[in-house]
Amino acid sequence: MGINKKIVVLSGKGGTGKTLISVNLAAADGNSYYVDCDVEEPNGHLYFKPQILEEKTVSVLIPEVNNDLCTGCKECVDFCKFNALAFGKKVILFKEICHSCGGCALVCPVNAITEIEKTIGLINIGISENVRTVGGIMNTGEASGIPIIKNILEYIKDKSGYIFIDCPPGSACIVMETIKDADYCILVAEPTIFGAHNLEMVHQLVELCNKPYGVVLNKCTDGPNPSEDFCKEKNIEIIGRIPFDSELGELNSNGKIAVRENYKNNELFYSLLNKVKEVSR
Ligand code: SF4
Ligand code: SF4
Repeated sequence: MGINKKIVVLSGKGGTGKTLISVNLAAADGNSYYVDCDVEEPNGHLYFKPQILEEKTVSVLIPEVNNDLCTGCKECVDFCKFNALAFGKKVILFKEICHSCGGCALVCPVNAITEIEKTIGLINIGISENVRTVGGIMNTGEASGIPIIKNILEYIKDKSGYIFIDCPPGSACIVMETIKDADYCILVAEPTIFGAHNLEMVHQLVELCNKPYGVVLNKCTDGPNPSEDFCKEKNIEIIGRIPFDSELGELNSNGKIAVRENYKNNELFYSLLNKVKEVSR
């Protein structure tokens, strides 16, 4: 196996520019992987428009109660910390909030609970020019996208090359799962007070997870930049600045990959890519 470098791009909220950056870094590198872990709202495929080579369903185990064996003791109901079980005349399962922990089957004293498979989404593997794409999508109403993300990360764990991972927004457990094996994290921030607040949240997370990281400031203008001020205050390395630019905004909103459109002779994203390779070495 050659180099396997997982670069996770994250931000405290959606619409900050993490897809713009991860898509363009993957396209600038070529022979790379673009991985969309935003399984609730994947949008990387809108840019890469990949040819799908393979699709796999992702399933979890959920309990099924044999009512002929059930004595109505309610131990399973008391055990379930997610309140996915209730007891009326028999045990009732709320599938949407079951987290597949398997605990209820273990505590049932008469082995009335078995586990059955339930499909919660899928992962797809594709190709767009020389970039391999991996994405996942969670079925509507499911409790958690974490099993899909685990499947995606398992798929890429031994792939060669640079792997640019578009993380779900925010700082919840799904984000922690995505950055668990990251070699380097890019935190994307907007130049507003709200942007700085979001940056602070993801900054706490990468510190907590003990990951190396740097910040890319997006939508930069000549005006004040509270996110930049935050970086200076915390001594955080700024590895790139993306200008607030209508041409780039238009390319992005039309689902075009700036690097493939030779945006400003590609100096911006190629120099960001070189910087990312240098700091993640
Ligand atoms: S598997 Fe876990 S989360 Fe699901 S119903 Fe049983 S105890 Fe609750
Ligand atoms: S623990 Fe088993 S026996 Fe008791 S209520 Fe649940 S399924 Fe029925």
